[in-house]
Amino acid sequence: MKIGLTTTVPLEPIFAGNHVPKDLNNIFITSTDPEKYVVNAEIDGFPYNTCSWIKGLYSVAIKEKMDAVIGVVRGDCSNTESLLDFLDFKNVKVIPFSYPYDKNVSKLEDEINNLMQTLKSDKYELKRIIDQVDEARKLAWEIDYLTVKDKVTGLENHYYLVNTSDFLGNVKNYVNSAKEFLSIAKNREKIDYTLRLGYIGVPPIFTDLYNFLSENGAHVVFNEVQRQFSMPFPESDWIEKYIKYTYPYTVKDRISDIKNEIKKRKIEGIIHYVQSFCHRQILDYVIKDSIDIPVLTIEGNRPGPLDERTKIRIESFIDMLL
Ligand code: SF4
Repeated sequence: MKIGLTTTVPLEPIFAGNHVPKDLNNIFITSTDPEKYVVNAEIDGFPYNTCSWIKGLYSVAIKEKMDAVIGVVRGDCSNTESLLDFLDFKNVKVIPFSYPYDKNVSKLEDEINNLMQTLKSDKYELKRIIDQVDEARKLAWEIDYLTVKDKVTGLENHYYLVNTSDFLGNVKNYVNSAKEFLSIAKNREKIDYTLRLGYIGVPPIFTDLYNFLSENGAHVVFNEVQRQFSMPFPESDWIEKYIKYTYPYTVKDRISDIKNEIKKRKIEGIIHYVQSFCHRQILDYVIKDSIDIPVLTIEGNRPGPLDERTKIRIESFIDMLL
Protein backbone atom coordinates (compact mmCIF):
# COMPACT_ATOMS: atom_id res chain seq x y z
CA MET A 1 0.00 0.00 0.00
CA LYS A 2 1.03 3.61 -0.55
CA ILE A 3 0.97 5.15 2.92
CA GLY A 4 0.88 8.94 3.32
CA LEU A 5 2.63 10.43 6.35
CA THR A 6 1.76 13.76 7.93
CA THR A 7 5.14 13.88 9.68
CA THR A 8 7.91 11.53 10.87
CA VAL A 9 6.63 8.29 12.38
CA PRO A 10 8.43 4.99 13.06
CA LEU A 11 9.20 3.89 9.52
CA GLU A 12 10.41 0.39 10.24
CA PRO A 13 6.88 -1.12 10.68
CA ILE A 14 5.80 0.45 7.37
CA PHE A 15 8.65 -1.08 5.39
CA ALA A 16 8.27 -4.37 7.31
CA GLY A 17 4.66 -4.52 6.13
CA ASN A 18 5.92 -4.16 2.56
CA HIS A 19 4.30 -0.74 2.20
CA VAL A 20 5.69 2.42 0.65
CA PRO A 21 5.79 5.48 2.95
CA LYS A 22 5.21 8.84 1.28
CA ASP A 23 5.81 11.99 3.29
CA LEU A 24 2.96 14.21 2.11
CA ASN A 25 4.89 17.35 3.12
CA ASN A 26 7.73 16.58 0.73
CA ILE A 27 5.43 15.81 -2.20
CA PHE A 28 3.51 19.03 -1.54
CA ILE A 29 6.46 21.41 -1.27
CA THR A 30 8.55 19.93 -4.10
CA SER A 31 5.67 19.87 -6.58
CA THR A 32 5.78 22.30 -9.50
CA ASP A 33 2.72 24.16 -8.19
CA PRO A 34 2.31 23.77 -4.39
CA GLU A 35 -0.05 26.77 -4.27
CA LYS A 36 -2.53 24.75 -6.33
CA TYR A 37 -2.72 22.14 -3.54
CA VAL A 38 -3.54 24.88 -1.02
CA VAL A 39 -6.23 26.36 -3.28
CA ASN A 40 -7.75 22.92 -3.93
CA ALA A 41 -8.13 22.32 -0.19
CA GLU A 42 -9.86 25.69 0.17
CA ILE A 43 -12.20 24.80 -2.70
CA ASP A 44 -13.00 21.56 -0.82
CA GLY A 45 -13.90 23.49 2.35
CA PHE A 46 -10.71 24.23 4.32
CA PRO A 47 -10.71 27.70 5.94
CA TYR A 48 -8.34 30.42 4.69
CA ASN A 49 -6.96 30.88 8.19
CA THR A 50 -5.61 27.34 8.49
CA CYS A 51 -1.95 26.35 8.10
CA SER A 52 -1.03 25.91 4.42
CA TRP A 53 0.93 22.74 5.20
CA ILE A 54 -2.26 21.07 6.46
CA LYS A 55 -4.11 22.11 3.29
CA GLY A 56 -1.21 20.84 1.18
CA LEU A 57 -1.14 17.48 2.98
CA TYR A 58 -4.88 17.05 2.47
CA SER A 59 -4.78 17.80 -1.25
CA VAL A 60 -1.73 15.58 -1.87
CA ALA A 61 -3.39 12.66 -0.04
CA ILE A 62 -6.46 13.01 -2.27
CA LYS A 63 -4.67 13.72 -5.56
CA GLU A 64 -2.00 11.04 -5.14
CA LYS A 65 -4.68 8.52 -4.05
CA MET A 66 -2.99 7.35 -0.83
CA ASP A 67 -4.26 3.94 0.29
CA ALA A 68 -4.00 5.14 3.89
CA VAL A 69 -2.67 8.13 5.82
CA ILE A 70 -0.83 7.83 9.14
CA GLY A 71 -1.46 11.02 11.11
CA VAL A 72 0.33 11.96 14.32
CA VAL A 73 -2.44 13.07 16.65
CA ARG A 74 -0.17 13.66 19.68
CA GLY A 75 3.29 15.06 19.29
CA ASP A 76 3.08 17.02 16.07
CA CYS A 77 0.18 19.19 15.10
CA SER A 78 -3.09 20.13 16.76
CA ASN A 79 -4.69 20.31 13.30
CA THR A 80 -3.95 16.70 12.38
CA GLU A 81 -7.00 15.27 14.21
CA SER A 82 -9.31 17.43 12.09
CA LEU A 83 -7.29 16.62 8.98
CA LEU A 84 -7.79 12.88 9.65
CA ASP A 85 -11.53 13.46 10.22
CA PHE A 86 -11.74 15.29 6.90
CA LEU A 87 -9.84 12.55 5.05
CA ASP A 88 -12.05 9.91 6.65
CA PHE A 89 -15.09 11.92 5.43
CA LYS A 90 -13.53 11.65 1.95
CA ASN A 91 -13.22 7.86 2.40
CA VAL A 92 -9.43 7.81 2.83
CA LYS A 93 -8.32 5.19 5.39
CA VAL A 94 -6.70 6.96 8.34
CA ILE A 95 -4.35 5.51 10.95
CA PRO A 96 -3.76 7.67 14.06
CA PHE A 97 -0.40 7.50 15.85
CA SER A 98 0.63 9.16 19.14
CA TYR A 99 3.98 9.95 20.71
CA PRO A 100 3.41 9.75 24.50
CA TYR A 101 3.66 13.16 26.18
CA ASP A 102 5.56 11.66 29.14
CA LYS A 103 8.06 9.79 26.88
CA ASN A 104 7.06 6.50 28.45
CA VAL A 105 8.76 3.69 26.51
CA SER A 106 6.06 1.07 27.09
CA LYS A 107 3.35 3.46 25.88
CA LEU A 108 5.37 4.09 22.72
CA GLU A 109 5.89 0.34 22.29
CA ASP A 110 2.10 -0.14 22.50
CA GLU A 111 1.62 2.50 19.78
CA ILE A 112 4.22 0.82 17.58
CA ASN A 113 2.70 -2.63 18.15
CA ASN A 114 -0.73 -1.28 17.14
CA LEU A 115 0.83 0.18 14.02
CA MET A 116 2.47 -3.16 13.22
CA GLN A 117 -0.85 -4.98 13.60
CA THR A 118 -2.71 -2.48 11.42
CA LEU A 119 -0.01 -2.63 8.74
CA LYS A 120 0.41 -6.42 9.06
CA SER A 121 4.16 -5.90 9.48
CA ASP A 122 6.35 -8.99 9.25
CA LYS A 123 8.24 -9.42 12.55
CA TYR A 124 11.04 -11.40 10.89
CA GLU A 125 11.46 -8.82 8.16
CA LEU A 126 11.62 -6.08 10.78
CA LYS A 127 15.18 -6.97 11.89
CA ARG A 128 16.50 -6.62 8.33
CA ILE A 129 14.65 -3.32 7.87
CA ILE A 130 16.05 -1.91 11.14
CA ASP A 131 19.60 -2.56 9.89
CA GLN A 132 18.82 -1.11 6.45
CA VAL A 133 17.27 2.06 7.90
CA ASP A 134 20.25 2.40 10.27
CA GLU A 135 22.67 2.28 7.36
CA ALA A 136 20.70 5.02 5.56
CA ARG A 137 20.60 7.19 8.68
CA LYS A 138 24.37 6.86 9.13
CA LEU A 139 24.81 8.36 5.66
CA ALA A 140 22.48 11.24 6.58
CA TRP A 141 24.55 11.89 9.73
CA GLU A 142 27.71 11.92 7.62
CA ILE A 143 26.15 14.51 5.32
CA ASP A 144 25.25 16.54 8.41
CA TYR A 145 28.85 16.22 9.68
CA LEU A 146 30.20 17.46 6.34
CA THR A 147 27.87 20.47 6.58
CA VAL A 148 29.54 21.46 9.84
CA LYS A 149 32.90 20.94 8.09
CA ASP A 150 31.79 23.38 5.34
CA LYS A 151 31.64 20.81 2.54
CA VAL A 152 27.84 20.57 2.24
CA THR A 153 25.47 23.53 1.83
CA GLY A 154 22.49 24.21 4.10
CA LEU A 155 20.13 23.37 1.23
CA GLU A 156 21.82 20.03 0.49
CA ASN A 157 21.74 19.27 4.21
CA HIS A 158 18.04 20.15 4.31
CA TYR A 159 17.31 17.89 1.33
CA TYR A 160 19.05 14.76 2.63
CA LEU A 161 17.88 15.15 6.23
CA VAL A 162 14.25 16.10 5.52
CA ASN A 163 13.96 13.06 3.25
CA THR A 164 14.87 10.68 6.08
CA SER A 165 11.19 10.99 7.07
CA ASP A 166 10.30 8.50 4.30
CA PHE A 167 13.64 7.79 2.57
CA LEU A 168 11.91 8.80 -0.66
CA GLY A 169 9.77 5.67 -0.27
CA ASN A 170 12.73 3.35 -0.96
CA VAL A 171 15.67 3.00 1.44
CA LYS A 172 17.98 1.45 -1.18
CA ASN A 173 17.48 4.39 -3.55
CA TYR A 174 18.13 6.83 -0.73
CA VAL A 175 21.34 4.98 0.22
CA ASN A 176 22.60 5.02 -3.38
CA SER A 177 21.82 8.70 -3.82
CA ALA A 178 23.43 9.64 -0.45
CA LYS A 179 26.58 7.59 -1.21
CA GLU A 180 26.96 9.21 -4.60
CA PHE A 181 26.45 12.66 -3.09
CA LEU A 182 28.98 11.98 -0.31
CA SER A 183 31.67 10.89 -2.74
CA ILE A 184 31.30 14.25 -4.54
CA ALA A 185 30.96 16.38 -1.38
CA LYS A 186 34.04 14.90 0.34
CA ASN A 187 36.29 15.81 -2.56
CA ARG A 188 35.21 19.34 -3.27
CA GLU A 189 36.46 22.72 -2.07
CA LYS A 190 35.13 24.13 1.20
CA ILE A 191 32.23 26.58 1.05
CA ASP A 192 33.14 30.26 1.12
CA TYR A 193 31.01 32.23 3.62
CA THR A 194 31.06 35.06 6.12
CA LEU A 195 28.60 33.83 8.77
CA ARG A 196 27.49 30.53 10.32
CA LEU A 197 23.74 30.33 10.88
CA GLY A 198 21.37 27.76 12.34
CA TYR A 199 17.82 27.14 11.12
CA ILE A 200 15.20 26.05 13.66
CA GLY A 201 11.48 25.36 13.48
CA VAL A 202 9.39 23.40 11.00
CA PRO A 203 10.84 23.20 7.46
CA PRO A 204 10.22 26.42 5.50
CA ILE A 205 7.31 26.91 3.12
CA PHE A 206 9.51 29.45 1.31
CA THR A 207 11.06 27.85 -1.76
CA ASP A 208 14.21 30.02 -1.97
CA LEU A 209 15.24 30.65 1.64
CA TYR A 210 18.49 28.64 1.61
CA ASN A 211 19.62 30.14 -1.69
CA PHE A 212 18.88 33.64 -0.44
CA LEU A 213 20.88 33.05 2.74
CA SER A 214 23.84 31.66 0.85
CA GLU A 215 23.74 34.56 -1.68
CA ASN A 216 24.10 36.84 1.34
CA GLY A 217 27.16 35.01 2.65
CA ALA A 218 25.43 32.89 5.32
CA HIS A 219 26.23 29.18 5.61
CA VAL A 220 23.44 27.22 7.32
CA VAL A 221 25.28 24.61 9.40
CA PHE A 222 22.31 23.32 11.38
CA ASN A 223 18.79 22.35 10.39
CA GLU A 224 17.16 21.54 13.69
CA VAL A 225 13.97 19.61 12.85
CA GLN A 226 15.32 18.04 9.65
CA ARG A 227 18.27 16.68 11.67
CA GLN A 228 15.86 15.30 14.24
CA PHE A 229 14.02 13.44 11.45
CA SER A 230 17.26 11.51 10.92
CA MET A 231 17.16 10.25 14.55
CA PRO A 232 20.77 11.27 15.32
CA PHE A 233 21.16 8.92 18.28
CA PRO A 234 23.65 6.21 17.23
CA GLU A 235 23.82 4.70 20.70
CA SER A 236 20.06 4.04 21.00
CA ASP A 237 18.04 1.04 19.80
CA TRP A 238 15.39 1.62 17.16
CA ILE A 239 12.49 2.28 19.56
CA GLU A 240 14.51 4.42 21.96
CA LYS A 241 15.43 6.67 19.03
CA TYR A 242 11.75 7.71 18.80
CA ILE A 243 11.87 8.69 22.48
CA LYS A 244 15.04 10.75 22.12
CA TYR A 245 13.64 12.44 18.99
CA THR A 246 12.90 15.93 20.36
CA TYR A 247 10.27 17.26 17.94
CA PRO A 248 7.18 15.47 19.35
CA TYR A 249 7.92 16.26 22.96
CA THR A 250 8.44 19.41 25.05
CA VAL A 251 10.09 22.65 23.96
CA LYS A 252 12.62 22.07 26.76
CA ASP A 253 13.94 19.02 24.88
CA ARG A 254 14.23 21.06 21.70
CA ILE A 255 15.98 23.97 23.41
CA SER A 256 18.54 21.72 25.05
CA ASP A 257 19.33 20.12 21.65
CA ILE A 258 19.53 23.54 19.94
CA LYS A 259 21.88 24.92 22.62
CA ASN A 260 24.21 21.92 22.34
CA GLU A 261 24.40 22.23 18.58
CA ILE A 262 24.97 26.03 18.73
CA LYS A 263 28.09 25.33 20.77
CA LYS A 264 29.32 22.33 18.78
CA ARG A 265 28.74 23.94 15.39
CA LYS A 266 29.94 27.44 16.34
CA ILE A 267 26.69 29.05 15.23
CA GLU A 268 26.57 32.86 15.30
CA GLY A 269 22.87 33.48 14.74
CA ILE A 270 19.59 31.59 14.42
CA ILE A 271 16.74 31.89 11.93
CA HIS A 272 13.53 30.68 13.60
CA TYR A 273 10.93 29.89 11.00
CA VAL A 274 7.29 29.96 12.09
CA GLN A 275 4.27 29.08 10.01
CA SER A 276 1.16 31.26 9.92
CA PHE A 277 -1.72 29.80 11.95
CA CYS A 278 0.60 27.23 13.61
CA HIS A 279 0.24 26.55 17.33
CA ARG A 280 4.04 26.26 17.56
CA GLN A 281 4.29 30.05 17.15
CA ILE A 282 3.27 30.28 20.83
CA LEU A 283 6.73 28.96 21.72
CA ASP A 284 8.69 31.57 19.77
CA TYR A 285 9.05 33.72 22.89
CA VAL A 286 10.20 30.77 25.04
CA ILE A 287 12.81 29.81 22.46
CA LYS A 288 14.09 33.38 22.05
CA ASP A 289 14.26 33.91 25.77
CA SER A 290 16.21 30.66 26.29
CA ILE A 291 18.83 31.02 23.57
CA ASP A 292 21.71 33.39 24.17
CA ILE A 293 22.71 34.20 20.59
CA PRO A 294 20.67 36.47 18.25
CA VAL A 295 17.48 34.90 16.85
CA LEU A 296 15.49 36.26 13.91
CA THR A 297 11.94 34.96 13.62
CA ILE A 298 10.48 34.90 10.12
CA GLU A 299 6.95 33.86 9.24
CA GLY A 300 5.63 32.24 6.07
CA ASN A 301 2.06 31.56 5.03
CA ARG A 302 1.60 30.23 1.50
CA PRO A 303 4.22 28.36 -0.56
CA GLY A 304 6.45 30.44 -2.82
CA PRO A 305 9.51 32.68 -2.82
CA LEU A 306 10.49 35.03 0.01
CA ASP A 307 8.63 38.34 0.09
CA GLU A 308 10.63 41.61 0.00
CA ARG A 309 9.88 42.52 3.63
CA THR A 310 11.28 39.21 4.88
CA LYS A 311 14.32 39.56 2.60
CA ILE A 312 15.09 43.00 4.07
CA ARG A 313 14.75 41.65 7.62
CA ILE A 314 17.13 38.77 6.84
CA GLU A 315 19.67 41.11 5.19
CA SER A 316 19.57 43.46 8.21
CA PHE A 317 20.04 40.49 10.58
CA ILE A 318 23.06 39.28 8.63
CA ASP A 319 24.53 42.84 8.50
CA MET A 320 24.07 43.17 12.23
CA LEU A 321 25.99 39.93 12.88
CA LEU A 322 28.93 40.71 10.61
S1 SF4 B 1 3.30 24.09 10.52
FE1 SF4 B 1 2.31 23.89 12.51
S2 SF4 B 1 0.10 23.94 12.09
FE2 SF4 B 1 1.17 23.56 10.16
S3 SF4 B 1 1.17 21.33 9.94
FE3 SF4 B 1 3.12 21.91 10.92
S4 SF4 B 1 2.72 21.76 13.13
FE4 SF4 B 1 0.74 21.81 12.08
